[in-house]
Formats: sequence, C-alpha cells, structure tokens
Amino acid sequence: MNKIENKMEKVVSLAKRRGFIFPGSEIYGGLAGTWDYGPLGVELKNNIKNLWWKKFVTDREDMFGVDAAIIMNGRVWEASGHVSGFADPLVEDLKTHSRYRADHVLEEAGIDCSGLSPEDMNKIIQEKGIKSPAGNPLGEVQKFNMMFKTNVGANSDAASVSYLRPETAGGIFVNFKNVVDSLHPKLPFGIGQIGKAFRNEIAPRDFIFRSREFEQMEIEYFVKPDGWQEAFEKWRVAMLEWCNDIGLPAENVYEKEIADEDRAHYSKRTIDIEFDYPFGRKELYGLAYRTNYDLSKHQEYSKQSLEYFDEETGQKFVPHVVEPSLGVDRSVLAVLTSAYCEDEVGGETRVFLKLVPKLAPIKMAVFPLLKNRPEIIEKAKAVYGDLKKTFGNVAFDESGNIGKRYRRQDEVGTPFCVTIDFDTIGAGEDASLTDTVTVRERDSGTQTRIALADLKNYLQEKLA
Ligand code: ATP
Repeated sequence: MNKIENKMEKVVSLAKRRGFIFPGSEIYGGLAGTWDYGPLGVELKNNIKNLWWKKFVTDREDMFGVDAAIIMNGRVWEASGHVSGFADPLVEDLKTHSRYRADHVLEEAGIDCSGLSPEDMNKIIQEKGIKSPAGNPLGEVQKFNMMFKTNVGANSDAASVSYLRPETAGGIFVNFKNVVDSLHPKLPFGIGQIGKAFRNEIAPRDFIFRSREFEQMEIEYFVKPDGWQEAFEKWRVAMLEWCNDIGLPAENVYEKEIADEDRAHYSKRTIDIEFDYPFGRKELYGLAYRTNYDLSKHQEYSKQSLEYFDEETGQKFVPHVVEPSLGVDRSVLAVLTSAYCEDEVGGETRVFLKLVPKLAPIKMAVFPLLKNRPEIIEKAKAVYGDLKKTFGNVAFDESGNIGKRYRRQDEVGTPFCVTIDFDTIGAGEDASLTDTVTVRERDSGTQTRIALADLKNYLQEKLA
C-alpha cells in the first residue's frame, strides 16, 4: 500500500468534501454507526455493486438473483440461530456506564481473544484487573444480541416481533424452494443478493468499516453434500480475482483460515479475506462452508420440505452451501484507501484517486479552454452532451484555469479530461487540428490529441 501519512483522515475528509460519504443525520448531530452516500459515493458504490452482479450473477449460467424483504418473519432468525446466538461480548464501565466490546478492550491490553468465551474474558479482566478505556473498573462480560428488534403491525405481542436482517443470507435461504420450484436449476447452483443488513454493533468505528447499517453482496452456492470442497476452492479463487478486479493490490490482500473455536455457529470451514486498511489488517470478506445447517433448520422450523430431488441418482437430500459474503461498504473503503495517491506537480502536492476506470464515479470531464469564447463553449457543450448520452456520468467544468480543473477531477478519480480549444473549432494555427480534442489521463498526466470522430471509441476502449 502506498505509504501516506494520516491517510485515513485524508480519505475521510476528501469523502466528505467532495460528496462521497457524509455522517448520517449530520444536521442533527449524527447517529453513531450510520453513513450517507453522497452523489459521487453512490456512483462508486453502484459501480461496485453492478460489477459484482455482472461477474457473479448475470455472466454465469449457474447463478440466480433475488431481492428479498429486509423485515422477515421473526421465526427465520429463531431457526437460523441468530436470536439465541448472534451476540458480541459486552462489558460496562462501572463508573461512567459506557459500554464496550470486551474483546476490543482485551485486545487493546495486548491479549489475543481467539477462541475465548465471555466467561474466559471475564476471568482475565478480573485476574489482571483490566480497566475500561476511561481507567475505571469493569463489570461482568455479558452477551449482547446485535439484531435490531421491532414489532410488525399495530400489535406488540410476541407474534409481532421481528428483526432487521443481520445478514442478507436469510432472504436467500427462505427463497431456496421458490427458486427451485420456479426455475428448476440443477445442482450446483447459486442464489445471489445485494442488500442492506443491520447490526447493532457495540462499538461502530473506523468510518464505514464497522457501521450499524451496511450493505452486503452475498451468494449461497448450493451443492451436493460431497461437492463443497470443490466449490469452496473455486469461490476462494473467484474472490481473490474480484479483489484484483476492483483494483486492490495483491500484496495488501490476505487469506486467513479461521480456527474451529472462532467460526460462526453454522460454519465448518471459514476463510476470511483480510485487507491492509490504514488502521490495520482487518476483515474485508468472508467465505464459509455452512453445511446444510441453514436449510435443515428452516425445514425443521417451517415444516416445509427443503429437500432437493436429484433426477440423476433418484436421491433426495438437503443441499449443502458455500457462502462468499462481501461487504459493499468495506469494498468502498478498501477501494478508496488504496486508490488515494499523492504526487508532486509543479512544486505542489497533487491528490488523485487511482480508481479502476470502471469504478470511477465520473467517467470523464469536458473542459472548454476559455469561458469567454462562445464558439468554444458551444462546441464543448455539444461534445459533453454527446459523451453523456454514451457514458452517463460525465462532468462539464468551465471555471478556473485548466490546471485547477484537472486537480478537481483528479481528486475524485475521473480517469479522462477532454479539452476543447481554439484548434478544435478551427481557430488555431494548425488547420489539421480542426475537430480534434486533447484527452488527458489522470494517473500519468499524458495528453493525446484525438479526432472528435474517434473520441468515443478511444474512450470506450480505455474504460473497458
Ligand atoms: P467482523 O468480524 O468484522 O465483525 P463478521 O465476521 O461478523 O465481521 P460476517 O458476518 O462474515 O462479518 O459478514 C460478512 C461481511 O459483511 C463481512 O466480511 C464484511 O464485509 C461485512 N460486514 C459485517 N459487519 C459489518 C459492519 N458492521 N459494517 C460494515 N460491514 C460489515
């Protein structure tokens, strides 16, 4: 990763200043763990989601998409084990009553929490006399369920209780039967979904890394009971390939095999894909073999058969599942922090986002060289309108000198700037340059003269 001092602060500040990401409910003082994507942020996020959907759903023959409701029947989360088990260890400062993640407090004190139960953590806190971050004694470590609870409808009895989904996976499992009955896919096949998930994190932190409302891109890939190793390996490779597709340097991406005692209750094998964020190496994505745990549980609780009939062998069984789970927001953060670059141009620091062109929120910007030359403005507007029809998000900027305009686009990762000048309108010295423009590239700063007739093809190739 390119070493830049205070990179995280710089990225957070750029994200706010240039309209990528704002604190949630900001004019009311914010709401911890929530973030709002602004005009450029939503483009970047959509580009990531569209790339994922294309690569993993529409480009494949063994994948189907769904978009399930966020609020589901409360029984879904009883069946999946989230009501009883989706909890983090919580510890309270006995003086200030502030609450902390017990494992975070212990890790700050240099203790590795792998495999530790809340009881183990409690023992260590008591034995070592570990204090809260404010220096006060700590209470007992308790389990804190992270699901947001709500009541559906006008009643508030037990039957009306539901939860905002803590993972999108639930909506896939409950639609397994619907997809099989309506499309009759053959195993192995997968169902993918992109959508919001909610977790009442005890300590949201590190910008959009750990928030209470976030988005996931998840796949449940259903296989025969003996087919999971092969599928797991293929998805492991595909996830690393995806990291490369979105421009994450291979040397900053790691695989971590999760030990038995640290895996989620449903998993028999998990690999975390970790990434070097400016605040350390942390989880980016997860790949889990969830056995047939979920479908079996939903079968048991819903009393509906979720067995698959294999026509080739005549056997009926509950399929097993491999789950590549990708956080959208952690992708955005990894992309932004690895794209953030600084160099020096004309004795000044230049900030630029070295985004993969496909992900750039603004694909290109069009500049008329001078603001006060109507013929140049008119031509630039025509070029702008034409490019916008083909490429969508194109910017038009006529204010300030060209250098400043380049800097503005560099900072938000626009890969190309197209300048319309005197030569373009046939008012320059060299008549052969009539109807040509300058295309300047973000990373190298190189400028190429291109005929207007070839411009779209040229840019299309560069953006592919
Ligand atoms: P962590 O250990 O960091 O809390 P997790 O192991 O609980 O993460 P999973 O349950 O595997 O996460 O969720 C799948 C993916 O969803 C994660 O790899 C991450 O990309 C994303 N994710 C999970 N929790 C959050 C969160 N609070 N904010 C943003 N993204 C999240």
